[in-house]
Amino acid sequence: MSEKIKNVIAIDGPAASGKSTIAQLVAEKMKAYYISTGNMYRAIAYKILENNIKAESAEEETFEKVLSNIKLDFKKDSDDNLIMILNGKPLGQEIRKPEVANIVSYVAKSPAVRKWLLDKQRSLTHLGLIVIEGRDIGTVVFPDAKFKFFLTASPTVRAKRRLKQDGENASDATVETVSKAIAQRDKIDSNRKIAPLKQADDAVLVDSSNMNKNEVVEYIVSKINT
Ligand code: C5P
Repeated sequence: MSEKIKNVIAIDGPAASGKSTIAQLVAEKMKAYYISTGNMYRAIAYKILENNIKAESAEEETFEKVLSNIKLDFKKDSDDNLIMILNGKPLGQEIRKPEVANIVSYVAKSPAVRKWLLDKQRSLTHLGLIVIEGRDIGTVVFPDAKFKFFLTASPTVRAKRRLKQDGENASDATVETVSKAIAQRDKIDSNRKIAPLKQADDAVLVDSSNMNKNEVVEYIVSKINT
């Protein structure tokens, strides 16, 4: 059996399952660095949008060209949190826009994009203890991580939670439209050939439909500490 990587806490799950909130709180409790790989895919999707490229039908060469003009780094801020730097500028709320969310799953299907980000994601272990969330962390990025969780919640709970988040929804969004957008993203993420959204065999499944965030965090931290 291969040696387990002890400084990686992997949290995967579908869109709007509460991964980022929970992963950030777990990172705080464990004194670890928090990393959202979704934000890395969103940063590339943002660049695709900026270049007026149609992600749904773009060729691999097009993605490769955009990638060759991207520099994506992490820096620590004064509170020792990681901030993502895209071509020299800190990334903010622009990557949370619905326009980005609507195309990011098409961008994340590209083998060139996934390979480019995989290397970056794996290199982040040099930071020390990390809590890293996404779709394929426990299956592909860190299959040997010692701590793996798969966070989910019912589609309605997820849509309601997403609707409450400012800046992520169109102004006329409803539970139905948000629910549809999430389902569409999950469908593309689960059915793609490379690194689909999938629970790792050795991940702990956490269904947070009937749990508040403190209960979820306590549960995850207790599993890590046992
Ligand atoms: O986590 P978040 O919802 O911000 O992720 C945005 C998108 O990035 C996902 O819908 C998925 O298409 C892609 N993604 C991925 N693999 C990851 C993380 C995110 O394909 N590890």
